[in-house]
Amino acid sequence: MIDLHTHTVFSDGELIPFELIRRAEAIGYSAIAITDHMDSSNMDLIIPRIVKAVHKIRPLVSLEVLPGAEITHAPPELIAELVREARHLGAKIVVVHGETIVEPVLKGTNRAAIEAGADILSHPGLISIEDLLLAKEKNVLLEITARKGHSLANGYVAREAVRFGASLCINTDSHSPTDLITKETARQILLAAGIEENRIKGIFENSKILTDKVLRRN
Ligand SMILES: [Zn+2]
Ligand SMILES: [Zn+2]
Repeated sequence: MIDLHTHTVFSDGELIPFELIRRAEAIGYSAIAITDHMDSSNMDLIIPRIVKAVHKIRPLVSLEVLPGAEITHAPPELIAELVREARHLGAKIVVVHGETIVEPVLKGTNRAAIEAGADILSHPGLISIEDLLLAKEKNVLLEITARKGHSLANGYVAREAVRFGASLCINTDSHSPTDLITKETARQILLAAGIEENRIKGIFENSKILTDKVLRRN
C-alpha cells in the first residue's frame, strides 16, 4: 500500500508523525506521505517539522516516508505560489485539496491546482472534462479517496478518468489511526468506484511511479 495523502497533529490529524508512520508500517504500507493542511499562515512552520521527523526516522523504518503538503481552501489565485513555496520548503508530495462536493471549496481550485503542477489533486469532486484532460496532459494524479464524504464522488471521478485516460491514484486522507487501510481494502474501494479489475494494478503503479520520481529528485 502506498498512501500519499495523510494528516497529523500538524493540522487536524490525531497522531504525531512517528506514530502515524509506525502504524502504517505495522499494517504493511510500503510508502506514506505526510500532507498536512496548509495555507500561507502555517506552511513555513509545518513543513520543516515534518521534514525533520522524516529525516530522522527514514533510516529506521521499512517503508518509504515522504514529507508533503495539502494546500487547502486557498483562493485559486494563490495556489501556484503556494505549490512553489511548499516545494521550496521541502515538500516532496504536493497535494491540492480539490473541489469535493461536501465542502465549499472555491470553484477554480481544481484548475489552479493542475496548472500549478501539483502532484495530486485530492478528491476532485465533479471535475470538468476540460480540467480532467488538462490533468492528463500535465500528469497530475486524480485521487480516489477512502475518506467518507469526499468519497461520494469516487464513482464519477473513476468513470470520467477511465473514459478520458487520466491517471488515478488511491489515498486514505487519514486523520485517525483507524483510517489507514490495507492494500486489499484499497482494491475493494477501487472496485466499488466502478473500476474494472484489470485497471487496478495500473492505479497502484501510478503511486509507485510518483514516489520513485520524487525520490530521484532528492
Ligand atoms: Zn483534514
Ligand atoms: Zn486531506
